Amino acid sequence: MTCKGICSRHKAQKPVGMGRYANGQKRCQICEIFLKWEGLWCPCCGYRLRTKPRNLKYKAKLRQRETVITVHENMIVKKIPSG
Ligand SMILES: [Zn+2]
Ligand SMILES: [Zn+2]
Repeated sequence: MTCKGICSRHKAQKPVGMGRYANGQKRCQICEIFLKWEGLWCPCCGYRLRTKPRNLKYKAKLRQRETVITVHENMIVKKIPSG
């Protein structure tokens, strides 16, 4: 599975006012390009195309929660008298 240069013929332009995935564009991680392509597989390298961002919202939520926990722990540490 390698890039043969065919994908450049199907290269998608950056949409205005909306996300690439929202615009129906698909991402090939082998060719590292966004395609305007109806199929599920890359016409260039044959790799499965990505149709939506990977766990983007879930990751953001998780990171936020970790930050809150860290802040909370710092507060507890500060409350303990140093002796
Ligand atoms: Zn390619
Ligand atoms: Zn590809």
